[in-house]
Amino acid sequence: MTHPQATLALKALADFWADMGLEEARALNVPAPVAGTRPAAPARQAERPAGPITAPGVRPEPKRLNNNPIAEARRLAAAANTLADLRAAVQAFDGCPLKKAAKNTVVCDGVFDADIMIVGEAPGGEEDAQGLPFVGRAGQLLDKMLATIGLSRQENVYITNLIYWRPPGNRDPAPAEMQVCAPFLSRQIELKKPKLLLTAGKFATQAMLGTEDGIMRLRGRKLLYRQDGLPVPIKCVPLLHPAYLLRRPEDKAKAWDDMRTIAALCDELGIKRGKGL
Ligand code: URA
Repeated sequence: MTHPQATLALKALADFWADMGLEEARALNVPAPVAGTRPAAPARQAERPAGPITAPGVRPEPKRLNNNPIAEARRLAAAANTLADLRAAVQAFDGCPLKKAAKNTVVCDGVFDADIMIVGEAPGGEEDAQGLPFVGRAGQLLDKMLATIGLSRQENVYITNLIYWRPPGNRDPAPAEMQVCAPFLSRQIELKKPKLLLTAGKFATQAMLGTEDGIMRLRGRKLLYRQDGLPVPIKCVPLLHPAYLLRRPEDKAKAWDDMRTIAALCDELGIKRGKGL
């Protein structure tokens, strides 16, 4: 008899290696777990905001002008006392010019009180279309990587990005865009107090850790994230970005090593995870 979680993890690992071109993994031919055997997912956290409700004949209040968008972001972030408030505050914020061209504001996905928080870079095309982070090809690879060690956004992981609107043509985020969104990220961390932060890729890693060191040097290392107002620094492990791994599958072996480091760290920190491999 097989355990559905073990089958899921085994399938994720086999897919992960098969993507890498390892023929033996393809030959394993692990069947996907039978539909309905996964634990019920908690309510997803990224439903679209309701549009403004205005009584007939009542003029809506004019929006404040954003002369200083960073100060406005700080004010809105500080006023949010829950992650749901925070998400609504980001959705209402007009101080990042990327919002004009975006279809959706992409704030977060996953479990609000998860001990693990992943910070990526910025939404891409699929994320912009769906309003959720990491749902395109890179996100699907991220899900497979997490599943190999018994982690998932349905059960024990919360996911967000440095910025909440898609940069046109998926260009790199500009420093000013990261700065204006930073108060919302700091407040998410303050409200969540995760036990473990995972930064995906160079931009998230450098911005979060305040370093210019390259991702190849930092990946898989057990580092500390510090922020004013946090009672203790948070353990932080940088990851190779899954979009990079799609372009350079030969580096997936490094990512697999990093996932094992994270699994061991979860166990050390008492973070519950499902059956991985
Ligand atoms: N890449 C990211 O860094 N974040 C996403 O949400 C999607 C792709």
